[in-house]
Amino acid sequence: MSEDEMGKSVGEGRTAELGRALEAVRRRIDRAVADAGRASAPRLVVVTKFHPAEDVRRLSDLGVEDVGENRDQEASAKAAEVDALAGAAGRGSSGPTWHFIGQLQSNKAKSVVQYAGAVHSVDRASLVKALSAAMSREQARRREAGWGARRDLDCLIQVDLDPRPPHERPAGIGSRGGAQPDEVPALAERIDAAEGLALRGLMAVAPLGLDPGPAFRRLRELSVALVARHPGATWISAGMSQDLEQAVAAGATHLRVGTDVLGPRPEVG
Ligand SMILES: *Cc1c(COP(=O)(O)O)cnc(C)c1O
Repeated sequence: MSEDEMGKSVGEGRTAELGRALEAVRRRIDRAVADAGRASAPRLVVVTKFHPAEDVRRLSDLGVEDVGENRDQEASAKAAEVDALAGAAGRGSSGPTWHFIGQLQSNKAKSVVQYAGAVHSVDRASLVKALSAAMSREQARRREAGWGARRDLDCLIQVDLDPRPPHERPAGIGSRGGAQPDEVPALAERIDAAEGLALRGLMAVAPLGLDPGPAFRRLRELSVALVARHPGATWISAGMSQDLEQAVAAGATHLRVGTDVLGPRPEVG
């Protein structure tokens, strides 16, 4: 076999592997949906952090429409690479929607709005301001260039549901960041009023090492209160590889699953 052919068959093996893992996750979701007596399944956002652009392209070919990333530098480079791969294969630019799900510094807003369709981790007023300013500029730029209109950025408020004080929490995903539950109403008003942003709902990571059920049910309660004031803000982004069943039971509309689709990655914060 030539090196090229060898590379190709390794690539096909990876696509098949991703396809099987994806199928297994979809079956878990379907079962959880049936168990919960829900009429429809949540959207699956496949979290591709630490995995290469080629994997995003493979997932796209397998029908995945939404991918998630938690670091701007990695996501921005990967999104550009995925575009280039799609172009090279003559597929045009109908790639997946990129969901930004990690802690976000305000000075990265300008970069994030270039590729992301949604930000799940809005947790403070200063970030709302930065994202809105960046989106307004991006929308104006596209108008002036005569490109198609840029939709408003879908924004979710990340809520901190960990009852423990920060210094007593184990380090890991979601251990930092997130607005306090009582900050949600004011933050929602700000997003709703901000140019270029669309308030969609709430996001949370279950507190590490604790039963995710109570946290997800609390998130659901906060969502009911939010929707009463903002009828369009119905999204609930909750549930990862380990706790997607509990999230489905609590009414999640979006699941963020990485490891169980793509396999293990280096330890991340
Ligand atoms: C990495 C990450 C996920 C996916 O976690 P897995 O356990 O790999 O499924 C979900 N949400 C956030 C915020 C993440 O950073």
